[in-house]
Amino acid sequence: MKELWLKQLSNNINNNIDLIKITEIKKKDHHQFLYKKKNIFFKVKIPVIFIKKIEKKNSKDPILLQFIFNRKELIQYKKYNKNPLNEKFIIPGMIHKYKNRILILLTGICAVHCRYCFRKNTKQVNSITICNWNKIINYIKKNFEINEIIFSGGDPLVLNDNKINFFINDINKISHIKILRIHTRIVCILPQRISKNLLKIFSKCKFHIVIVTHINHPNEISDELSEKIHFLKTMGITVLNQSVLLKNINDNHKILIKLSNNLFDIGIIPYYLHLLDKIEGSKHFYVSENKAKIIMKKILLSLSGFLVPKLTKDIYGGKNKKFIF
Ligand code: SF4
Repeated sequence: MKELWLKQLSNNINNNIDLIKITEIKKKDHHQFLYKKKNIFFKVKIPVIFIKKIEKKNSKDPILLQFIFNRKELIQYKKYNKNPLNEKFIIPGMIHKYKNRILILLTGICAVHCRYCFRKNTKQVNSITICNWNKIINYIKKNFEINEIIFSGGDPLVLNDNKINFFINDINKISHIKILRIHTRIVCILPQRISKNLLKIFSKCKFHIVIVTHINHPNEISDELSEKIHFLKTMGITVLNQSVLLKNINDNHKILIKLSNNLFDIGIIPYYLHLLDKIEGSKHFYVSENKAKIIMKKILLSLSGFLVPKLTKDIYGGKNKKFIF
């Protein structure tokens, strides 16, 4: 029988017209969201169950704005391009920027399509091929400096349990790997993804697991998520969160303070707050570095240091992140 999270994943909305209908956006607000099909290559995607978190009739809802196509995406700007980080792959699907860790894009698929995603051009890619996976494993085996592997994507946890189990089993055999980090958005979108079977797979790992969620606004947090994070914590898994600073969504110290407090309440430590990566079609989400610093100063006055995420920025072609605050 199909697991609940898989059913939820396949029941999604994939165009603005239906999203406008289901969220009952008023006619006077429609114009900004209308488009011709041929103009949009990064399809709208949001599971119906997650749409329930959007306030009806509110065209400015902070969850809606992250996933609904906006006509502003069609405007071209200098400095906004298709690969804002200029990511280089040593083996298809693998990036090795830092000495101790490698990043593996297991899949290009996600549960949602975040309109600001800097990897939106990799979304056509399905799972990593076995041939490339074997090359990656051999690369890791020979490189003793690598002690951490990062599963990213897309969203690695959209892959089914058999695939996750297969990848984890191979890593389990490499004794110099101490940490597996999993970057995922689906945990917040469909908390049911943290199924009993997935927890069983995690329990077999010889290394420490760190899950990094991607949550931008307090409205994304649910009781269901809280329950699943509790299970992860009980198993000794570290759970961190990264957010992207987004105009008209979370570019306000009060929202970010609430986000940090609410994350901590359910057992998640705020980790990074990223400045937007300048992928084409995302300028309307951009918050300047100066404004970000002002927000951070206000946050510091109201939160204990361990609840303040690090403000970071990725540089085009850069070796590492730049810490701004
Ligand atoms: S979940 Fe992550 S990878 Fe997928 S569209 Fe959103 S930001 Fe991009």
